[in-house]
Amino acid sequence: MSGSLPKDPESLLGAARTGSRAALARLLSMVEGGGRPLRQVAGLAYRSPPPYTVGLTGAPGAGKSTLTDRLITEARAGWAGPDGSPEPDGAVDQVAVLAIDPSSPRSGGALLGDRVRMADHATDPSVYIRSMATRGHLGGLSLAVPDAVRVLGAAGLPLVLVETVGVGQMEVDVASAADTTVVVVTPGWGDAMQANKAGLLEVADIFVINKADRPGVADSRRDLLEMLELSARGDWRPPIVATSADRGQGVAELWAEVAGHRRHLVESGALAARRSARLVDELRRVLTARLAAEIEDLGGRPDFAEAARELAEHRLDPYEAADRLLDARRAGPPPGAAGN
Ligand code: GDP
Repeated sequence: MSGSLPKDPESLLGAARTGSRAALARLLSMVEGGGRPLRQVAGLAYRSPPPYTVGLTGAPGAGKSTLTDRLITEARAGWAGPDGSPEPDGAVDQVAVLAIDPSSPRSGGALLGDRVRMADHATDPSVYIRSMATRGHLGGLSLAVPDAVRVLGAAGLPLVLVETVGVGQMEVDVASAADTTVVVVTPGWGDAMQANKAGLLEVADIFVINKADRPGVADSRRDLLEMLELSARGDWRPPIVATSADRGQGVAELWAEVAGHRRHLVESGALAARRSARLVDELRRVLTARLAAEIEDLGGRPDFAEAARELAEHRLDPYEAADRLLDARRAGPPPGAAGN
């Protein structure tokens, strides 16, 4: 099937817009792969309005996949207003899920680890599920994910759920680069504390205590409230929702809270401000990635080897060496320094 796909990004995007999942998958592979194809795809996708993005993060095993699976069903009913009735422009006819697995070099499939994910939706044409890794994208996942989200939006998917494991700073960055960030903890002593330590407290717009069928929900709620009391927040107080994702309990309430947060962002003007701030953040990451690539290139130049030798002989200190190399670079950048 993919043999008959067009090659150029513009035709691929056209095909993706008319429902070709193979074309969409190809575009996302181009994003992961980096280089020139990424640049073309990213440029095209940037012209379309971005989709609404919900990030879900939390420790492994907290129930994020199960929750995401259930949220898809709720989301398909559309965005509802404060009284629960559908919003006029609130249709969500298609939902995308990006499952980020930083530990896995695999991508392009619907597998995270060995789990068979989201079996209910595997054959539903209005749901698109994709695992994502990064192969060549210079900025890593923290840049590849926003590009991928924009590609999904340009292909006509109005809602993207980004699911990631909240263990490292990069994963937290990815999850918090959403319009609404949902942090999932489980009941019992210490889990909320752990989330706090991982930096999840400050990025959360909504907390979920999943596995609410287990004891300790009240303790977790109290821990979260106490920690929220101590943290400086803006005008949004993250609600805390208890769910039993595997039974589907509390998921409708969670979706209502997501809708409430979205409404708050739109009505207060914070959505536009937040998105602009994220773009500036992305720009910084692009610059950092490019400069890092140039430094990498610098390491291969003969004057670098010469500076290293002089350093070893204590004829040059590291600051002087850096000055000399940077001056030489300014005089003429090494060939092939441009990346993504
Ligand atoms: P993830 O690693 O955060 O994506 O977690 P999963 O969604 O894979 O869930 C991990 C395990 O917890 C699975 O065996 C689920 O069936 C189970 N699980 C998910 N939600 C609940 C829940 O609400 N209650 C209980 N008891 N188990 C759950």
